[in-house]
Amino acid sequence: MSPPPAPATRRCAQPDCPNPVIRPARRGRPPIYCSPACRARAKRRPPTGPVLVEIDHGSLTSQGRPAGRVWLVRLRRGPRAVIVASGLGRTSAESLAAQITAVLHTPSSTPGAATD
Ligand SMILES: [Zn+2]
Repeated sequence: MSPPPAPATRRCAQPDCPNPVIRPARRGRPPIYCSPACRARAKRRPPTGPVLVEIDHGSLTSQGRPAGRVWLVRLRRGPRAVIVASGLGRTSAESLAAQITAVLHTPSSTPGAATD
């Protein structure tokens, strides 16, 4: 004899919400968020990872300079990326990337600033 399956208790799909999801008795697709507020939040802000600073070298540039000698600095978060600077020497690219990293990892010193 196997024990009966325990009633499923799922956590809210909003990553920073600890609430369990209450499954209604009615049939249909079970909810994944504990409340409409969480669902709205998740829709407005899809889950993203940290901001990454990448340095990379492109292929041939429009000026025909050889690959590997022209570097770019790129910011990436999840699937989105933006090139901050390109056409740099490697030393400049590394220096810029280090400065951006320092800015990103410095706690905000502007209390009360809007977060949205
Ligand atoms: Zn929730």
